[in-house]
Amino acid sequence: MTKPVLPFVAQADDAATAAWLAALQRAMPDETVLPLSALDAAMRRDCRVAIVANPRPQDLRTLPALAWVHSVWAGVERLVSDLADTNLAIMRLVDPRLAQTMAEAVLAWTLYLHRDMPRYARQQRERLWRPIEPVRACDRRVGLLGLGALGEAAAMQLRNAGFTVHGWSRTPKTLPGVRCHSGTDGLDELLAETDILVCLLPLTGETLGLLDEARLARLRPEASLINFARGPIVDDAALRSALDGGALRHAVLDVFSTEPLPSDSWHWTHPGVTVLPHISAPTDRESASALVATQIARYRRTGEIPAGVVDRRRGY
Ligand code: NAP
Repeated sequence: MTKPVLPFVAQADDAATAAWLAALQRAMPDETVLPLSALDAAMRRDCRVAIVANPRPQDLRTLPALAWVHSVWAGVERLVSDLADTNLAIMRLVDPRLAQTMAEAVLAWTLYLHRDMPRYARQQRERLWRPIEPVRACDRRVGLLGLGALGEAAAMQLRNAGFTVHGWSRTPKTLPGVRCHSGTDGLDELLAETDILVCLLPLTGETLGLLDEARLARLRPEASLINFARGPIVDDAALRSALDGGALRHAVLDVFSTEPLPSDSWHWTHPGVTVLPHISAPTDRESASALVATQIARYRRTGEIPAGVVDRRRGY
């Protein structure tokens, strides 16, 4: 029997689709990786696994024997919601290279806030020569929300740079040199100890709107926020009033409820906001394709869906 083809099901432009197909095919020379549009009805009937990047749910429904999908993204909130009425197993990307890229971004923007760069940029525009007393890294407390694949790597990077690091996760954790908290009380403790809050949580029913007015108000005076996770985790109206009222000094935002960020959005022009276009940790096509290849090869060998698929009830 011939091996079923491996469909790549994506909503992406032609260039991105071609780049993904090339990278996946290079990583899996024994497989035939094809865009979904190239599969005829017989090919579709045989597919048990697909590689996906923002797939349209109706496209996946054209694969009647599909048992699992491997996403090339780390965040899966959209897949979890789009596939809610199916039993498909969802494998997400857990890539050490992605974690390293995210940890680098967290360190870069933490240093940006720690060394008061927004204020010096403002002072330069005003031709103001005014040194600000520096704060030692060990006296700067960074609170990390999420200690998963990305959060843990970021915590280690921040700790190695000399910051005082607190972390928060759903289940209790132990990380060397990091004060770990969990649960609702743990979140309140962490916020009260935080000068720079970094969000690396998945977007789920529990984290939607988590950073609301009351929680932002718990932060230390003149605290700052870095959101590299998902926009809706932060209550946007609460963020704006915390910035306007001075409870928050600055927010570095890489993610928004609507992306691309609409041109009339208040974030673009607010002096307390740095807008980034969802670039803190892009998927690396080569390393992601190699990881997907390992999972597919194991599946072809054993017929078993990989361990570590997304827990639909938790939402991540
Ligand atoms: P992960 O490995 O699943 O880790 C998630 C962490 O959040 C875990 O520590 C988990 O706790 C914690 N968590 C989840 N729900 C929680 C809750 N209700 N209360 C407290 N803690 C909770 O995810 P990851 O790979 O680190 O990725 C995190 C997110 O980053 C992704 O979901 C995605 O949205 C975002 N992301 C953004 C970019 C970008 O470029 N901006 C790139 C990649 C990913 P436990 O450890 O107890 O499970």
